Amino acid sequence: MPDIDHYIIIGNGPAGNHAAITLRKKDEDARITIISDECVPFYYKPRLINFIADKTDKKDLIVRSIESYKEKDIRIRMGQKVTQIHLDSKSIFLQHMEKINYTKLIIASGSRARILPSMTAYAAHMNFITSYTDVMEYKKKIQEANKIFIFGGDLVGFKFLKTLDAMGKEVTIMIDPNAFWPFNLNSNMLDKIFSNLSKLNVSIIIKDAISTIEKHENFFSVKTRKGIEKTVDMVFSLNGLTPNIEFAKGSGIDYDRGILVNEHLKTNVNSIYACGSCAQIYNPSIKSYTTSIGWPNAVSQGEMSALNLLGGHKVIKAAGRKYFDLEGVKIKTTWWEDIDDES
Ligand SMILES: Cc1cc2nc3c(=O)[nH]c(=O)nc-3n(C[C@H](O)[C@H](O)[C@H](O)COP(=O)(O)OP(=O)(O)OC[C@H]3O[C@@H](n4cnc5c(N)ncnc54)[C@H](O)[C@@H]3O)c2cc1C
Repeated sequence: MPDIDHYIIIGNGPAGNHAAITLRKKDEDARITIISDECVPFYYKPRLINFIADKTDKKDLIVRSIESYKEKDIRIRMGQKVTQIHLDSKSIFLQHMEKINYTKLIIASGSRARILPSMTAYAAHMNFITSYTDVMEYKKKIQEANKIFIFGGDLVGFKFLKTLDAMGKEVTIMIDPNAFWPFNLNSNMLDKIFSNLSKLNVSIIIKDAISTIEKHENFFSVKTRKGIEKTVDMVFSLNGLTPNIEFAKGSGIDYDRGILVNEHLKTNVNSIYACGSCAQIYNPSIKSYTTSIGWPNAVSQGEMSALNLLGGHKVIKAAGRKYFDLEGVKIKTTWWEDIDDES
């Protein structure tokens, strides 16, 4: 056994960073390593939309500089993807075949874009907004595009729609009420959202579905089942998130949609905790197992997982239901807080 603990945290978002800082506050000597498959320090995802529109600089996106990891003696490994966890040897494997031993592990690997089964055939034609890496791939292209098609809808999608409208783009959004995330929209909600969004200079398609998306040399052609055809420069799919847990599958750690944890955020393995949007937990306020949604929950779960990993017995509190204003429709959600970009 090594003399000092090595705490490894998979994920460099709010859950992983708050876990790391909490571990450091409580244990001055341990080795702490954060591993992230992105090549950027901890950044603020709620500001990504304004970053696309050049209303937020990269420096205002970054929450933690490389230097501040050093100051806290936290090692950050960026651009390194975890591919496997071996419980017997207490080690993780990285994509480039490196093996790293841990004494305790926190999984805070967040989530990626959810692609609807009906849309998988067109995945290569669509763009997503879930990370800095996504955004850097096409930021310039968005700025140069004239016509953009958004398929689906989620809590980020409407903010993106309004930003594109303000940037003077010609935008079409197709809202599928049954694919909205993280809840389905009923027809009253859909009508109200439709009437509020109609005040913008955007085309809205409801009660229809995509039949094909074709890629041409310089444009995409989107056709709907009801015969609408749109020629656009870019297509976005914004249908919510799905947990990043592939590397844990087959390891012996229990999972369902996310990594299954108890009310202390502990997995079925004693030395392994999970937190933030990759963790699935029973939420008594909605009587269902859900994955955590939203920045504030990721922060509090990150802190709690660290305290419990060090021997605490803190119990996660189900966030009470709050009203979220979605285009004039008051929606009760337990997990999401509308974070102002400048806050
Ligand atoms: C555009 C946008 C706007 C948003 N606006 C709001 C808002 O207004 N209010 C709100 O409450 N929430 C908002 N959110 C949601 C919020 O950002 C998330 O809920 C939060 O980031 C989840 O934190 P997390 O730490 O669980 O995961 P993430 O922030 O997703 O971080 C996960 C980390 O794990 C890393 N990772 C994943 N897999 C691997 C692997 N195999 N190996 C190594 N590293 C890996 C990722 O690179 C990343 O560093 C927004 C999200 C987006 C995308």
